Amino acid sequence: NTPLHELDPDVAAAVDAELHRQQSTLEMIASENFAPAAVMEAQGSVLTNKYAEGYPGRRYYGGCEHVDVVEQIAIDRVKALFGAEHANVQPHSGAQANAAAMFALLKPGDTIMGLNLAHGGHLTHGMKINFSGKLYDVVAYHVGEDGTVDMAEVERLAKESRPKLIVAGWSAYPRQLDFAAFRRIADEVGAYLMVDMAHFAGLVAAGLHPNPVPHAHVVTTTTHKTLGGPRGGVILSTAELAKKINSAVFPGQQGGPLEHVIAAKAVSFKVAASEDFKERQRRTLEGARILAERLVQDDVRAVGVDVLSGGTDVHLVLVDLRNSALDGQQAEDRLHEVGITVNRNAIPNDPRPPMVTSGLRIGTPALATRGFAAEDFAEVADVIAEALKPSYDADALKARVTALADRHPLYPGLGT
Ligand code: PLP
Repeated sequence: NTPLHELDPDVAAAVDAELHRQQSTLEMIASENFAPAAVMEAQGSVLTNKYAEGYPGRRYYGGCEHVDVVEQIAIDRVKALFGAEHANVQPHSGAQANAAAMFALLKPGDTIMGLNLAHGGHLTHGMKINFSGKLYDVVAYHVGEDGTVDMAEVERLAKESRPKLIVAGWSAYPRQLDFAAFRRIADEVGAYLMVDMAHFAGLVAAGLHPNPVPHAHVVTTTTHKTLGGPRGGVILSTAELAKKINSAVFPGQQGGPLEHVIAAKAVSFKVAASEDFKERQRRTLEGARILAERLVQDDVRAVGVDVLSGGTDVHLVLVDLRNSALDGQQAEDRLHEVGITVNRNAIPNDPRPPMVTSGLRIGTPALATRGFAAEDFAEVADVIAEALKPSYDADALKARVTALADRHPLYPGLGT
């Protein structure tokens, strides 16, 4: 039982340094969040020792009586949270949830449709060198001039290519998708509809975003983004597809489930059903709106900064730097310099290469979890606006960031 600091000081030092980084800077990567201590406690528990191939009540190993309880709790809670008929809580990640869902519904060589990566889609929605692009024939759809998904194009491409699966979902998109319209198109061409709600699942759980579950055959999600749980994936489906989904996950794709992570998922689903969680998601949306409103003011417009689609309905803002002297990489570095962590992001019709880009993706979930309210988000938004100007004062902005971080301590009691 030697503690980490004694057994492995090198790893312990890096963990401590990461805790300090999270505590002292402002995390605005849209896909990140801070898991509650209870979630980390479950994830760090003895359940990590247990092999449990199979499903609750039908395992290929002995001694599963307690992990069965945990996994069943996770299944029941996530079904209730989203109103789903079936849930598989075993996927190790969002990418593996998507892979398993596709393996369940498709054969190699089938046609799928997904949102183009540079237009906000995810790698697993058909990117060329991802499994999804290698195994399937991909027809990508796009956003139109106004920055929203061009549903006329979706319909036209679906009728032309007769896909077996249409994926609706995104990693970088500031608006809501019309799930009913996607389902109508899918039905017209005999396709399955899969919604990947990884980014906005927390908003759905809080009732602040339309729920895709009633419209889709399959819904996949991660558990660590707006949902605020441990890193991992979940697949929800109709009862009719339950068997296919389960056997695609195990034995189709994975061996033993990570029962310690499943325990942490169960805890996070309990949290996500609470009033506190709803209130946090409200602040998440409010923060993103405040940020978008600040970044379309004349003073930032004057230095070539703009907001894609003019605003946001979700937890993130996509900053358009096509007319700015800063490219995505430089803007990311600039914000890092003042203590704000974001990621550069390709935007539709980006003139710059993917490693540089002309966009920034800025999200509010982690800061909302940290307790940020409207006035804090207004201050962060102003710091970001000032940092993107040529005349920025790094020291002054860093001091404002530090003041905000100090006002909302993260994991108090952890670290020094
Ligand atoms: N789906 C979407 C929409 C995502 O944005 C992501 C991750 O960013 C994933 C799936 C993959 O999740 P993971 O990183 O857990 O594999």
